[in-house]
Amino acid sequence: MTTYKKITLRKGKEDSLKRFHPWVFSGAIGHIDEGVEEGDIVAVHAADGSLIGNGHFQVGSISVRMLTWGDEPVDEKFYAQRLNAAAMLRKSLGLMRADNNSFRLVHGEGDFLPGLVIDVYGSTAVLQAHSPGMHFDRHKVAQAIVALPDLDVRNVYYKSETTLPYKAALDAENGYIIGQYDTDIAMENGLRFHVDWLRGQKTGFFVDQRENRTLLEHYSHGRKVLNMFCYTGGFSFYALRGGAALVHSVDSSAKAVSLTNENVLLNFPEDNRHQAFATDAFKYLAEMQHGQYDLIILDPPAFAKHKSALKNALIGYRKLNGKAFEKIAPGGILFTFSCSQAVSREQFRLAVFSAAAQSRRKVRILHQLSQPADHPINIYHPEGEYLKGLVLYVE
Ligand code: SAH
Repeated sequence: MTTYKKITLRKGKEDSLKRFHPWVFSGAIGHIDEGVEEGDIVAVHAADGSLIGNGHFQVGSISVRMLTWGDEPVDEKFYAQRLNAAAMLRKSLGLMRADNNSFRLVHGEGDFLPGLVIDVYGSTAVLQAHSPGMHFDRHKVAQAIVALPDLDVRNVYYKSETTLPYKAALDAENGYIIGQYDTDIAMENGLRFHVDWLRGQKTGFFVDQRENRTLLEHYSHGRKVLNMFCYTGGFSFYALRGGAALVHSVDSSAKAVSLTNENVLLNFPEDNRHQAFATDAFKYLAEMQHGQYDLIILDPPAFAKHKSALKNALIGYRKLNGKAFEKIAPGGILFTFSCSQAVSREQFRLAVFSAAAQSRRKVRILHQLSQPADHPINIYHPEGEYLKGLVLYVE
């Protein structure tokens, strides 16, 4: 049996771990063995001395992210097994197909791998560590990815410069840890897109909107579509395929707008239904005509990254949605989202509800949307739920 340095909890502080919640908060810790360093694997014991499991230690309010329960060690075999289980799930979800090679392979706690995110884009996997422990284990993880029998991944790009705790000073340089640049074109439901994992946001593409984009495609026929906060244009090219009369994509980032244009060109060359604008969302919504669009997508960045920003975030969602209710054509459809983990589904619905009431229009909920199954929520870790959306019919 592997022996790890020990952390002993204060009396009564093991309850949430007994319910498999995978975090140990600093206040729960009674004693830490000498020499425990950031990123180490530690054995977590209850106050009575019994072993609960093993996890990655880090300095901060979440002190340990649990990886195994009982005496299972965290070694190469552990990563191979967890990654294999993650790949099996994606395979059973039908995400590995000739016309779909982009998906999330590992979603942190949702795949029982706290601190780790892996997105796959064809032959390249983009690996993000959110904890020092995962940073130190990145090579084991990368080896386990390329060894997966069901996956054709040959390159692993490591992208953790912005996701690791700044104070840990790990100098986690971005770069390929296995393989090299191959192609940056990936496929989602038969649509192709460039993924800029070098400079793009997150891992380069928002795979979490795949199912919601598919739903949008079904509503697009003959509609005039505004894709607000378009980033790489995901919703725009689904709308074009769905037969939209026109699609306007807006993002404040000029880089995002040029990525959107490139991706539209890749899928629909010589199609003049699409235009993209680099401008601020609130400015665009204030200046656009009443009734100019009858399908609007609002997918803003997280307005509340932490609980402290909650109040302002809710005001932000209310204002943003208020503008859409004010301007959308009668019979219009609004796809509105929040990806703030700190904002609950109910709070978001209330913010949208207030915006609707202020506009005095008849509004009905057609669909309540969520994150897709390759972003699973560990039932013992409800904090893993972050994406919520509403599809509204506005008369
Ligand atoms: N809908 C996208 C993801 C959106 S990410 C997709 O399906 O892939 C959020 C985007 O909002 C980013 O691209 C960011 O550049 C943009 N953004 C942030 N603030 C903005 C603002 N005030 N006005 C317009 N765009 C903004």
